[in-house]
Amino acid sequence: MADNKLYEVLGVTRSASDSEIKRSYHKLAKEFHPDKNPAAGDKFKEISYAYEVLSDTKKRQVYDKYGLKGLQEGGQGGGFPPDDLFGQFFGDIFGMGGGSRGRVPRSDDTMHPLKVTLEDMYMGKTTKLQLSKNVICGPCKGIGGKPGSVVTCKDCHGRGLKVSYQQIAPHMTRQFQSRCPTCHGQGETINDKDKCPKCKGKKVLNETKILEVHVEKGMRDNQKIYFRGEGDQQPDTQPGDVIIVLQQKPHDIFQRTGDDLLIRHKITLTEALCGFEFIIKHLDGRDLLVRHAPGEVIKPGDLKGIQGEGMPLYKNPFEKGNLYIKFDVAFPDNNFATEEQLKQIETALPPRPAFVMPTGEDVEEVNLMEYTASERGSRREEAYASDEDEHMHAGPGVQCAHQ
Ligand SMILES: [Zn+2]
Ligand SMILES: [Zn+2]
Repeated sequence: MADNKLYEVLGVTRSASDSEIKRSYHKLAKEFHPDKNPAAGDKFKEISYAYEVLSDTKKRQVYDKYGLKGLQEGGQGGGFPPDDLFGQFFGDIFGMGGGSRGRVPRSDDTMHPLKVTLEDMYMGKTTKLQLSKNVICGPCKGIGGKPGSVVTCKDCHGRGLKVSYQQIAPHMTRQFQSRCPTCHGQGETINDKDKCPKCKGKKVLNETKILEVHVEKGMRDNQKIYFRGEGDQQPDTQPGDVIIVLQQKPHDIFQRTGDDLLIRHKITLTEALCGFEFIIKHLDGRDLLVRHAPGEVIKPGDLKGIQGEGMPLYKNPFEKGNLYIKFDVAFPDNNFATEEQLKQIETALPPRPAFVMPTGEDVEEVNLMEYTASERGSRREEAYASDEDEHMHAGPGVQCAHQ
């Protein structure tokens, strides 16, 4: 529905950027605040409502597509629009008898991926993006030729399609539809001599356009940034949007889950038992000093958190998520200490559990060996292979004795 009310309330165009909308809202809100301007009536409410919708990417999308009615039906409007707006809106659709009549067709949106670092999403960044797009040809204003030179295609009568019939059996024909070759599906033709020299009758020109993409603090992987009406232009068509889709590059140190960050940190057994300090280089370059007191034991896999050192919240960057640290503990290598030293260490550690030697002849001392995963795999395969051999040698009906 070509419903522009909310844009008009804020005095911006449909293609206004988020920051333009914000600026305009602040200006108007100041001007029409009831404290300052009690005579303005519901104006302030309307401004607030328009801003509430247009500053929210999702709501704005719904509104652009379905108008105020879409916000009502989808329950996405938050509050109801002020009476005045709502009344005008109903007046509009009933008055016009449908609302969708007279609506200009809209071109498809164009999506562009944009790779960004986690640092960019933490601190915010403005990137320039070069795009090529079709714009309406200036010299012919999108007509494609001299005024009056565009004529309806004689071969397809403007439909752009040609219908042909093929007899496949007596009294039976099949109907084919194909693109009209005379007008290339356009439905209209221009004499070569009348064609616009600039666009050669194509009505549009290809242009290079630089878009300034504001990656805001706290934006997420896959988040979309909309450039209203910046898509390809076509005559008699409302241009679609250019949609930038953020793609976060993997980070060497930080992993992100929502607004939280996670790092893995390896400490030695000595540090795990006797305390430690280390530095986390944060995404904005700050050095976070982490101190852990001696005797507060860290076990392998322990998770600790630092409040408020995660990602900034989108649209609310002074609030932040948490930073979590998952600890890995590196144990010392073999023979790291003498027997004497080990005895000393043992005096500090909790006592061993009691060991009771069983009595009788069934006690058998065995050796503990190094055992790697790949070794285990190949051993197991060997075991299976010998099993199979036995199956093959055994005749039908003979069961394997061992299992
Ligand atoms: Zn044609
Ligand atoms: Zn032209």
